[in-house]
Amino acid sequence: MSRTPAPFQKITLPNGMTYEQPTGLFINNEFIQASNGKTKPVINPATEEVIANISAGSAEDVEYAVQCASHAFEDTEWATQDPKKRARVLFKLADLVEENLELMSAIESYDNGKTLALSRGDVGLVVNCLRDAASYADKINGRTIDSGDGYMNFTIKQPIGICGQIIPWNFPIMMTSWKIAPALAMGNVSILKPASATPLNALFLANLCKKAGVPAGVVNIVPGSGREVGNAITQNPKIRKVAFTGSTVVGKSIAVDAASTNLKNTTLELGGKSAHLVFDDADIAKTVPNLISGIFMNAGQICSCGSRIYVQEGIYDKLMAAFKIAVENIKVGDPFDESNYQGAIDNKEQFETILKYIEIGKEEGAKILTGGKRIGNKGFFIEPTIFYDVKEDMRVVKEEIFGPVVTVSKFSTLEEGIKMANASEFGLGGGIETTNVSTAIKAAKMLQTGTVWINTYNDFDSRVPFGGVKQSGYGKEMGSEVYNYYTETKAIRIKL
Ligand code: NAP
Ligand code: MG
Repeated sequence: MSRTPAPFQKITLPNGMTYEQPTGLFINNEFIQASNGKTKPVINPATEEVIANISAGSAEDVEYAVQCASHAFEDTEWATQDPKKRARVLFKLADLVEENLELMSAIESYDNGKTLALSRGDVGLVVNCLRDAASYADKINGRTIDSGDGYMNFTIKQPIGICGQIIPWNFPIMMTSWKIAPALAMGNVSILKPASATPLNALFLANLCKKAGVPAGVVNIVPGSGREVGNAITQNPKIRKVAFTGSTVVGKSIAVDAASTNLKNTTLELGGKSAHLVFDDADIAKTVPNLISGIFMNAGQICSCGSRIYVQEGIYDKLMAAFKIAVENIKVGDPFDESNYQGAIDNKEQFETILKYIEIGKEEGAKILTGGKRIGNKGFFIEPTIFYDVKEDMRVVKEEIFGPVVTVSKFSTLEEGIKMANASEFGLGGGIETTNVSTAIKAAKMLQTGTVWINTYNDFDSRVPFGGVKQSGYGKEMGSEVYNYYTETKAIRIKL
């Protein structure tokens, strides 16, 4: 069946930069239209205007991507060549992203609504993530095992095969790199579905992949709905691994589908409701900016956000006074205005969810210290909002809001603070503000989470592993740990 090429669309970004946006599915190193011809509009969340119409794939397109990926994995040297060759491609890709850092940052802000400063940070992390993966390409090796003179035992690490990768809209380009970079470094091939709301940068990156020398079929980007493209990926019998980032509800259904079809290897990075604890001896001047980046960075749309703040009673009044002033000084608005700290909420659905949660909090009897309202009447902007006088069983304390809304509770002893923090089904991030090293280490060990930040928050480094426990999922991204999730270990035992 012949595939119809998809056009590039000339886009002028709000900062005046222009570029050619691919609008098609990227399969087998070509941009093509969806087999049923469908497209979906992409919205600028700061203005609610349509930016572009992007092809929306179907199950048939996933099947075609699987054919191409399967050919690349089985019939070419991609998986079996000297890994240094794959490393060279990934280093080249990192260089191309770095050359386009300003442009890709602007695309990210236009598509997602986050501020330009934040987008630059995200694209910088993409570069690091690609370079890390390139460096690890030939460093993930098996081991030899001594079992006495009668045998020789060793293990080898091999790629898994076709990896289906499904990502959300809050970090569109960073998540694309977190998924593709380790998969490729280990010799796998990828079919990635970006979120319907934010497909632009993944497609731009696809074009760079081709330029960097990624062979046809190794990276395939298939935008489309979760129901169509997402399900087709999780249920495909030839796909051997699914890596998903998104909500816990969808993650659970993916785990079931992936297991029931062909027992896919599965990693899940899901939601969170992380606790940020402030102890009596914390340095207030340093703590306040950490609380702000903990919950208001990316307008609160980070799975690891410190959305529950717990303050020890001795420092409570002083800290809350300083926190309130600082939050009221947060500038919210146009992502391209460099003086703004907080941009737009990514999409209408999420915008309405956040406003609904603010109403729920008020109905439950939580008090608002500051914020609580929409800003303006065009674009998805919400005031940074602090709830206090909350009860631990309120929905605003228990459920993930995924927006610029935080609850504050008081605790007396370390044990009580930790108990409140751990009373959650989630276990992604956690924060500790203290000047006492013993308190810091003791609390860090007691928190039931995948990551703990001490005297910092939402502070990522591509060398440090990230991933949740409990209902925040399983598996790690980044660090050397991620490569375990993109390889199989084969044991070889020889009788001498
Ligand atoms: P979501 O609804 O779970 O969607 C995430 C991705 O899954 C999107 O690409 C979505 O496609 C797709 N999808 C939806 N239903 C699917 C299905 N039945 N089968 C396969 N794929 C499906 O999450 P979201 O609303 O976009 O993002 C916000 C949530 O993600 C929050 O709960 C947040 O905590 C979580 N998150 C977690 C992390 C982490 O690292 N742990 C990071 C970021 C976000 P469509 O775009 O077409 O709907
Ligand atoms: Mg969704």
